[in-house]
Amino acid sequence: MKHYCLCINCFEADNTSLIWAVGEVQSNLLAICRCPNGHVQISGLQYDLFDVLFTSGIHAYRKGFYSESVMSFAASLERAYELFIKLNLFKTVKTDNPLETIDKFWKEIEGQSERQYGAFCSAYLMTVREAWKANQEQVKFRNKVIHKGYIANSQEAKKYAEYIIGCLNNIMKAIKENFAEQRSPLYFHIKKLAKPAKEKSLKENPGAKYSANSGPSLLKWNSHNHEDATFADALALAESFDKTIGEQI
Ligand SMILES: [Zn+2]
Repeated sequence: MKHYCLCINCFEADNTSLIWAVGEVQSNLLAICRCPNGHVQISGLQYDLFDVLFTSGIHAYRKGFYSESVMSFAASLERAYELFIKLNLFKTVKTDNPLETIDKFWKEIEGQSERQYGAFCSAYLMTVREAWKANQEQVKFRNKVIHKGYIANSQEAKKYAEYIIGCLNNIMKAIKENFAEQRSPLYFHIKKLAKPAKEKSLKENPGAKYSANSGPSLLKWNSHNHEDATFADALALAESFDKTIGEQI
């Protein structure tokens, strides 16, 4: 996914100049961006992975890549499961180094989405005291797109996106209500894992600057209180950001 950040070097040279640097987001949520004047900027996205994948799905949908949007929305939900599982473990597992222990646990299931789903359903029941229930019609649709090459249309992708947002709203609400103390330490632990890559990029690009990127989440995930996100709001926010970029590059 492409990523845009305002170039600090250009801004320092002329504080009336807002020049966008462009790069590609990596899985560690770093993007090496370049502005039209040749400056390099390492942008660190201050979001959780599921939030970024959801944004990717919205951009794909807006550009008419409907099957690709379904893939990103599905990946977003799976990474939200992962976050929930880890937060639940972090709250309940008492070891000297709980986050390192959880990383070891995760390695055993990281390649197997069915096992992860099982772990999530258990963690959700333990936390919310209600059984998680997937919509089988939407699960079948997702599998058709991902495993059978089915080409989704806009209506199907919209319906799927709305289903995913409903699931994510439930998960985000449960996290905010139950894991307030665990969220920040786990977030910074995950960010710490990207630190060597960030330092390597800065070393490989002399003169490059680092900037933290933290605009509003399309899922309203980074707002303090829980407020249900909607597909329409997410599309509108993405559109307004694209207009800003479009006007300035
Ligand atoms: Zn620049």
